[in-house]
Parts: sequence; structure tokens; C-alpha cells
Amino acid sequence: MRKYLMAGNWKMNLVPSEAKKFAEDLVKSIKDLDKDVEVMICPSFVCLPAVKEAIKGSIIKLGAQNMNENEKGAFTGEISADMLLDIGVEYVLLGHSERRHIYKETDQLINKKVKYALAKGLKPVLCIGELLEEREAGKTDEVNRRQLVEGLKDVSANDMANVVIAYEPVWAIGTGKVATPEIAEETQANCRKVLSDLYGQTIANNVTIQYGGSVTDTSVDGLMSQKNIDGALVGGASLKLDAFTRIAKFNKV
Ligand code: PEP
Repeated sequence: MRKYLMAGNWKMNLVPSEAKKFAEDLVKSIKDLDKDVEVMICPSFVCLPAVKEAIKGSIIKLGAQNMNENEKGAFTGEISADMLLDIGVEYVLLGHSERRHIYKETDQLINKKVKYALAKGLKPVLCIGELLEEREAGKTDEVNRRQLVEGLKDVSANDMANVVIAYEPVWAIGTGKVATPEIAEETQANCRKVLSDLYGQTIANNVTIQYGGSVTDTSVDGLMSQKNIDGALVGGASLKLDAFTRIAKFNKV
């Protein structure tokens, strides 16, 4: 049985006092959540300690938005796995499209981060997804296959129990253009096929694959009703308490 993971990526939003208040409110609003669903929030680095404190004793998991691939040293402005672990972070987003496209992170760098996170005991959420021009050129599956194969290079079958994949078509992120449930399902089924080619069907069947890209409280149910969609990675709507609460409490239709 795959676990459902409903995650909020707060990006570069909220100052620590706002993040703390939001997290406290979220703890209250999702108190009666279904046990099979995990909820995670990924605040900015400086908000992690305050949010950790606010979610203490609740079911909410803490994720970071990025991580450096080295242990420590002269990497000004970077954040290490040990720093995240010391705060109590459990998950880390890696290869988010904004990291790939604004900060030019390559599949090779993302792969180093994925392996380092796993070696340290953090659970990577490997984000993948095609650009609009790649989809229009019929290259969607090729791009996602490459990002999966390269991103997971030398990741063992055992470690896959701690890896989450987030399929986030770049054309849907922050644009309000959510993929239809059918398009997301078709693409994610193909991603699971790649995982099966790499690790076998049993392991592939156990990997949580989230959909991300303009998910809202109104689109979540249709998406979560698909066979290969096991969660959502949510940007904009995760900053609205009511919307994110409804997303966490999705219904299969
Ligand atoms: C994201 O940042 O991962 C994301 C999916 O953003 P949004 O929901 O705003 O499209």
C-alpha cells in the first residue's frame, strides 16, 4: 500500500512569525485527518525551527526546500543535511523546477543531492517534469525518463523505500494551468513504468508519486482519484489555510 503525501511548498514566502502561526493553525485544522494520509510542509530554511516547534506532537511532517550535496565547509550561503537533521527535518525537496531552471541545477547535481540525502537519513522528494515545449514536441516521457534515470543513478532498491517522486509539469507550476487528471495519470503511469524498469514492479508499486502544478482545493479530488497519483506537491494553494486543509482532506471521486 502506497502512502498518500500531501505537501506544501511555501517557497520564499512567510517570515518566521507568520510561518509559525500558519503551522499552528494547520495543526488545528487537520486534527481529524485520515490516518493513511501524511501531510508535510516545506518552509524556507529560516522558518524551519519555528515551524518544527509549532507542529510538535502533530502528524505534520517537516520538509526543506533544498540541500547542499557536501558534508560541510566553504560553501557560503548553503545548507547541509546535518543542519536540517539537527532541526528535525525529515524530507527534502530536490530538483524542484525552480532549482533546475532558475539556478541551473543539472540531473547530475540533483543525483548527488539525492544520494547524499539518503546516506544521511533524509527522505528526498525528487521533482521531475517537462517544459511546455517538450510536451508540445512529444518529448514528455523521454524527459521524465531521463530525469528519473539520471536523478536515481546508483540509488539502491532498498533506498527506494525512502524516495518520493513529484511529477510537476513545468507549464503547470504557478500558472493556474493544472494538468487534467487524465494527463497527469498517463504521465505518472509512465513514470512508474520507468521505476519498474529500474527496480522491478514490486518496488515501483510502492513508490509514492505526487502530482504538482497549480493544485487547488477544487482540482485535488479529481487528481487524487487517479490510480498513479499518490499525493500532491502544492505551492500557491498551500499558503491558504482553508485551501490547503481541504487539499489534505481530499476525497476520491
Ligand atoms: C510547486 O512549487 O511545487 C508548485 C506546484 O507550485 P503551484 O502549486 O503554485 O503551481
